[in-house]
Amino acid sequence: MMMEHRSSEHVFYRNLRKTYPVVDRGEGIFIWDTDGRRYIDGSGGACVVSIGHGVPEILEAMKAQAQRICFAHSSHFTSEAAMECAELLTRMAPDPSLNRVYFLSGGSEAVETAVKVVRQYWREVGKPDKYKVISRWTSFHGNTTGALALGGHTGRRRHYLPLFLHTPHIEPAYCYRCPFGREPASCHLECADQLERTIKYEGPDAVAAFIAEPVVGATAGALVPKDGYWQRIREICDAYDVKLIADEVMTGVGRTGREFALDHWGVIPDVIVTAKGLSSGYTPLGAVVVKEEIHEAIRRGTGAFVHGHTYCQNPLSVAIGAAVLRYIQDHKLVERSAAMGEVLLKHLQTLRKHAIVGDVRGLGLFAGIELVQDRDTKHTFPPALKVNAQLAQEAFQRGLITYPGSGGADGIHGDHLLLAPPFVIDEEGIDQMTRILDEALAVVSSRLL
Ligand code: PMP
Repeated sequence: MMMEHRSSEHVFYRNLRKTYPVVDRGEGIFIWDTDGRRYIDGSGGACVVSIGHGVPEILEAMKAQAQRICFAHSSHFTSEAAMECAELLTRMAPDPSLNRVYFLSGGSEAVETAVKVVRQYWREVGKPDKYKVISRWTSFHGNTTGALALGGHTGRRRHYLPLFLHTPHIEPAYCYRCPFGREPASCHLECADQLERTIKYEGPDAVAAFIAEPVVGATAGALVPKDGYWQRIREICDAYDVKLIADEVMTGVGRTGREFALDHWGVIPDVIVTAKGLSSGYTPLGAVVVKEEIHEAIRRGTGAFVHGHTYCQNPLSVAIGAAVLRYIQDHKLVERSAAMGEVLLKHLQTLRKHAIVGDVRGLGLFAGIELVQDRDTKHTFPPALKVNAQLAQEAFQRGLITYPGSGGADGIHGDHLLLAPPFVIDEEGIDQMTRILDEALAVVSSRLL
């Protein structure tokens, strides 16, 4: 069925050649457009919506804060809401030492902030030569130029390469397409050991931090590393005095069935970056949680973090963040994400009956389907076919929102779909998602094979 779409002459749309349906309202796992069509928000937008749309408690908290005050600059005031949100977030952190929270407007700003706070820390402790940040290919850390340089999506980076600083990248933990040609049985975590080699090449005295997504989202569709990977990374960071920054923008606050994804491996980072699910999309909000040691070095040294944005610690945003975290806690949604995540993965595994489904993987309500032209060789589809977008469009027309993507390097990464529904989804919702994906896969397969 063709959809009626409207467009405006004055909005600079994301895709300049597309017309978009007009969103009307949301409730729970559903979104409606102004033509009355209903969609299951199967990816929470871009892995944003954690507690579902239209939750009355959040709207009430929003109104209560708005009636008191919406904005007061963070150089003049803090707020009760900021204190509450920071307290709730640090309570979710894996260790009491991760106890200071800096609030921002979103993930990219939070990533930039994390890098800068670590950089300033090294200056404060008398190691001013430590400035390099190592990251990984097949990763995404945001679209501001600093964060984009750290990211490893070649397609997204290509346009802006001349603007980037030197940022060394290592191979990702991509078990389905192991960069070292290993199978799980023969794997010796070569991808983790590459961090050590790269630190040595770059000079341990010059390396400030390593940043990575504990489970990769936008560039690979829920890449879960092998057990032992994160423990090895932590050991290497400790051995060379390198701070570990966990980019949990997608995976934070329960998405993978634990408070933070690194909790699955018992690894404590030095800095956690989070956003998206933290406000569940009710407002733009990001946060950087740092260890007391970093905060203390800056307090004793310069006394101020040489940084800041207009909307840091925005009272309305942090009040919404606090309300979302309270809601997650009160409704035991982290546990629910773990339980429903198992159901989702089980359902998605049935889609392997389609020959173009190469891999189905995930953790909690964070799942990915990787698409291949040939399952035996794992050959990818030519990028020009935009198979991920075709599949997402077929699903969208049938009332399911998904998040299509790829790692951006032809032949290295396959197309994928990321699924990340709100934590409040039930078995019936997962069943509907799977049925729509099944139909969409059948249509796209018959077109391609
Ligand atoms: N880090 C990760 C892991 C992300 O997935 C994203 C957004 N997709 C970002 C950072 C950037 O967040 P934002 O779009 O809120 O700036």
